[in-house]
Amino acid sequence: MRRPQRGPLVTFSVALAWVVTVVVLRAQVAPYDLVIRNARVVDGTGNPWFRADIGIRGDEIATIARRINAPATRTIDAAGQVAAPGFIDIHVHAFGGAGQPPSPFPIVEVPTADNYVRQGVTTLIGGPDGFSPVPLRPALELTAKTGITPNLGTFIGHGSIRAAVFGSVDRAPTAGELERMRALALEGMRDGAFGLSTGLFYVPAIFSKTDEVVELARVVGASGGIHISHMRDEELKVEDSVRETIAIGEQGELPTQVTHHKTIGKASWGKTVATLRQIDEARQRGVDVTVDVYPYTASATSISAALMPVWAQEGGREDILKRLRDPVTRRRILVETIRILLDGRGGGDARNVMVSRCDWNPSLAGQRLDDVAAGRGKSRSIEEAADTALWLVESGDCGGIYFAIGEDDIQRILRHPASMIASDGGVVVFGRASPHPRSYGTFVRVLGRYVRDLKVLTLEDAIRKMSSLPARRIGLADRGILRERMKADVVIFDPATVRDIATFEQPHQYAQGISVVVINGQVAFENGAVTTARPGRILYGPARIP
Ligand SMILES: [Zn+2]
Repeated sequence: MRRPQRGPLVTFSVALAWVVTVVVLRAQVAPYDLVIRNARVVDGTGNPWFRADIGIRGDEIATIARRINAPATRTIDAAGQVAAPGFIDIHVHAFGGAGQPPSPFPIVEVPTADNYVRQGVTTLIGGPDGFSPVPLRPALELTAKTGITPNLGTFIGHGSIRAAVFGSVDRAPTAGELERMRALALEGMRDGAFGLSTGLFYVPAIFSKTDEVVELARVVGASGGIHISHMRDEELKVEDSVRETIAIGEQGELPTQVTHHKTIGKASWGKTVATLRQIDEARQRGVDVTVDVYPYTASATSISAALMPVWAQEGGREDILKRLRDPVTRRRILVETIRILLDGRGGGDARNVMVSRCDWNPSLAGQRLDDVAAGRGKSRSIEEAADTALWLVESGDCGGIYFAIGEDDIQRILRHPASMIASDGGVVVFGRASPHPRSYGTFVRVLGRYVRDLKVLTLEDAIRKMSSLPARRIGLADRGILRERMKADVVIFDPATVRDIATFEQPHQYAQGISVVVINGQVAFENGAVTTARPGRILYGPARIP
């Protein structure tokens, strides 16, 4: 009997069918590492939420679909909860505050950055207000080696560059010094910065003219970076400062941002009507200017920077102490400090100033300025409060919190389409000192107070301001939106219970209502605890040369 011969075509067809079957089967059964089921997906674009499953493979979102049936190594049921892109905070003091970064700096001291991760923040951008490590590379390498929970990127700081080149003096740079500053800005971009931060309110940057900043902005802009400014004046002259921030963007030919926008002191409340109009007009004529904001009516910075006149802050600490020792000069400083307490950051009353951290006397943290005065056996008068502020500076300086921002201004900025949410907080050691509660609560406070309770924003718009908008701002193309092939940074939370409980009196309280945080595909927070995974990466800007 003759065996039926298979023709070559038949053999090929059989083989093809087998290959197709295997490919199809594999596609169907290829397991996901993690599937988040039944979530209300708020995807970060501002679009209305939709119900879907999110399939994650490796560090990426592989699928977002109504129903994912393929097997998964792990499944999280998010029914009744929101899944959103992990929040991106464009203003974090990850390397410390003003001046030289402390050692070890905060993100290395607390690599899990619990106060942020527990709010759903998955990316921190450090180096704000003109202060960053200079050069950046060693700090980024140390951070990478340490292993961190959230992702971390940074700006390069103009003030730190200025201090590195010619110290803390009130003059313009020489041509040679300016050239050196430009070179350091370029080096910062090549080390991976996302742009240039300035803190024209702070010594030494306060001694800079706009054209000096523009020179560095051009270098950074040509490398694809942005400019972000803690403005020269957030009080009576805030409109001049917004004009300057816009001019830096316009003349430096780069995107520019007013960071932690606010108007401090009762005399300046309501000025955001005018400043936001300035922003709108600049945008209309083609200047790419945006703002960010934190949702609190108090600001925070050092007692010396907030309550002393600028001229008294020039030079190093020894120069400041010398001025305070001279009775005539001290009297001049005191008069201006009284004025600042009455019309500026002091909000008209010494009780509006709270000491947040004193390394030389930790027991002062949490006390109001008039209490500190009383503790020294002084009266609670504004004069004695001012004298006490100078005494704090003399004794080693302290951090301070200043209740002098209007609620209406916050809401007005929150509603503006070009505003995003940023904390201006720091990576903090749980329980240490009395930090501004924004470090623990910024993002969940917006979701709880301003979305759910006050209905200032829709949930979708609030999420957009925490994710795709800051991502777009710094050119982070693969984060900030829940979409296939984006990096899997995801936060899952209950919109009915999400809230901040950190207060000015009791700041060390973690966010509530966040249930799971996923960073680069790995679960970084669940069951009320940050996991042992350290999935965070260093994120680099557009001009990095490895
Ligand atoms: Zn600032």
